[in-house]
Amino acid sequence: MRILILFPLFLFLANMPLSAQKKNRTGKEPLFGKEYATYQIVSNELSGACFYLVSGHGGPDPGAIGIYQGRQLHEDEYAYDIILRLARELLMRGAKVHIIIQDKKDGIRDGNVLASSKRETCMGDPIPLNQVARLKQRCDWVNKLYRKDKESYKRAVFIHVDSRSKGQQTDVFFYNAPKSAKGKRLADNLHYTFDKKYDKFQPNRGFHGTVSERGLYVLRNTIPVAVFLELGNIRNRRDQQRLVLSNNRQALAKWMVEGIIRDYKQGK
Ligand SMILES: [Zn+2]
Repeated sequence: MRILILFPLFLFLANMPLSAQKKNRTGKEPLFGKEYATYQIVSNELSGACFYLVSGHGGPDPGAIGIYQGRQLHEDEYAYDIILRLARELLMRGAKVHIIIQDKKDGIRDGNVLASSKRETCMGDPIPLNQVARLKQRCDWVNKLYRKDKESYKRAVFIHVDSRSKGQQTDVFFYNAPKSAKGKRLADNLHYTFDKKYDKFQPNRGFHGTVSERGLYVLRNTIPVAVFLELGNIRNRRDQQRLVLSNNRQALAKWMVEGIIRDYKQGK
């Protein structure tokens, strides 16, 4: 798979020591973990934009569970790692970011099998197990922050790594709230970017991800324009490759940021 060879190069460039790069402003987010807490602000492309990043499940709810080399892969841990990577990439481009689901101990992790925990909170509040209560809690937090934020471009991003029937490959699916034109525009821009990346890095694979409306609770109950991404099937062997390799998780985050920048340039 060509994707496996190319991504380490990107990661290498992204991790060059500060001394090797031009001096830039830096920021710090302890949630990223010791190694990644400090980041460079490399551009202002997203200044004036504000994001509410929500990884699926967490706390008492691991989400879907896949088996990889005899070990369990928990959806919430992968969604969280990718959300943190996305948050960091957005911050590096001057955006304001709220990480709604948080784990004080797990930062960005480069391992393959990410250890599971129940320690995630919703902005510090314990996450209830009841599904509606759990979803309402994160929507309430997003809406509360949204009302205070003064940025003109505010977007919520929900990330899941869902399981469908075993063996069914899912690609990446993008959902927006029913009748949300701006949600659809963002989902389309993300889809467009992923499509192009797959053409470039995995031309023989083909990309079958789609954009569609979906009346999901979190899409219906958050005030900001929102998109919901399903990044793969945690029970599918091929999709698992996209998840267990940290370079691929990093690539997914970078692709998302490219799609977001494209959308931001199209207006509020
Ligand atoms: Zn899920």
